[in-house]
Amino acid sequence: MQKYILAIDQGTTSTRAILFSKAGEATLQAQREVRCRYPQLGFVEQDALELWISVIDVINDVLVQANIDFTMIDAIGITNQRETTIIWDKKTGRPIAPAIVWQSRQSADICDRYNDNKEKIHSKTGLLLNPYFSASKIRYILENTPDAEKRALNGELLFGTVDSWIIYKLTQGQVHATDKSNASRTMLYNIFEQKWDEELLNLFGVDAQMLPKVYPNSYHFGDATFFGGSVPIMGVAGDQQAALFGQTCFAPGDIKNTYGTGCFMLMNIGEKPILSKHGLLTTIAWEIDGKTIYAFEGSVFVAGAAVQWLRDEMKLIKDAPDSERSAQMINDSEGVYFVPAFVGLGTPYWDDDVRGAFFGLTRATTKYHIVRATLEAIAFQSKDVIEVMRKEAKCPLLNLRVDGGATANNYLMQFQSDILNVNIQKPVVLETTALGVAYLAGLASGFYQGLSHIEKIHHYAKEFKPLMSKEEVNHRYQGWKKAIKAARIFK
Ligand code: ADP
Repeated sequence: MQKYILAIDQGTTSTRAILFSKAGEATLQAQREVRCRYPQLGFVEQDALELWISVIDVINDVLVQANIDFTMIDAIGITNQRETTIIWDKKTGRPIAPAIVWQSRQSADICDRYNDNKEKIHSKTGLLLNPYFSASKIRYILENTPDAEKRALNGELLFGTVDSWIIYKLTQGQVHATDKSNASRTMLYNIFEQKWDEELLNLFGVDAQMLPKVYPNSYHFGDATFFGGSVPIMGVAGDQQAALFGQTCFAPGDIKNTYGTGCFMLMNIGEKPILSKHGLLTTIAWEIDGKTIYAFEGSVFVAGAAVQWLRDEMKLIKDAPDSERSAQMINDSEGVYFVPAFVGLGTPYWDDDVRGAFFGLTRATTKYHIVRATLEAIAFQSKDVIEVMRKEAKCPLLNLRVDGGATANNYLMQFQSDILNVNIQKPVVLETTALGVAYLAGLASGFYQGLSHIEKIHHYAKEFKPLMSKEEVNHRYQGWKKAIKAARIFK
């Protein structure tokens, strides 16, 4: 009988279980929403037990739908919202406080205490000092939960990101572990030496007894003993790294970009970590068979969100797909540029104070120009980040692999290919995060035989090839740079 790989994708808004076949097809899936709570301004919390129950729920649901029992699963892969921090009691397995979600700013004041150590932190972890990462969130829980400091020192408490928490629960408390990609986001893991960093543990007051063991990404973490069976957990990775793997970005120079509310880019930079001077993060992408691969990470704050703005506030389009039809009503954007800096600009400008602006308007400008300029802005902003990656990694840009809601827009994808002068590939399975850990788990279990096997079964639904002349690309990109410069003057 055919076996499956079960991928569990525990995200910020939902938990999903997806069954993958030998051919790498997503055959069935189940989903549960999970709640966030906002007890105070800037706080974002979740109930760790609710996250865990949602995992069991979706596994149960997918098994019932497929009409198979648990032992028909060859191996389990786990991917998760990164950085979210959970501390639980070692004896009872109960969380001692709400999970602090990655978005939460509640440890911002704690982070400020470490301003003098910014450079040291960057040089060891590849991360920029920010409350996103787990270290200051651990400190927050220890300082704000009765007796927690003392109990941590007594070895009574365990820390984990969401992957560790799920592994711990699935193995009935037998295994306290994480993988290298998730460990890289705690701000306590030295990505160069590949171990928990003693100096950082002292700095953040985190006792080593609390920490999970760090394993490679494609590895036998332990066995999930549930539903009357036992299935090995064999692939674990944080969501963005999992997506890079699921996009088969196996070679240095491969990039994946997720076009959602914002854009999220990761570039495979090979076996040597490089520290960025322009605000990119450096992170471990994965370790397989003793080989560690690193990645650059960068993001664009406003991408699909600008399309939502056109729809909801400007009422220029009736729905998101309408943006493609509108953009194609004209043959050229005729010098109209839009800088959608609603919340400032990230890489490589790092300017919080700049705000959005349109440039190049004439009496002949129509709503179609405005829509087209908005889509082009998504591509220009992605190019800004990718150009920095290309320069700092000193490797040629090989392939751009895309996923996320806005990849439905063919005009945007073609323009992105043009302006970057690179081939763009969009996979058949857009659930690249879950697919990534299914591949990682299947590699360890022997379900898939090596990276080349995965490359063979991985298929693309669409490809975009650059068509724009070099002169035109330069002309358009210079226009964009001018627009950015002008927007930054107005603040
Ligand atoms: P997230 O995971 O961030 O919620 P999704 O991957 O679900 O994002 O993508 C949703 C975003 O994609 C929205 O911001 C929406 O405006 C944008 N989007 C969806 N379809 C299109 C389209 N056809 N053209 C342009 N943007 C689109």
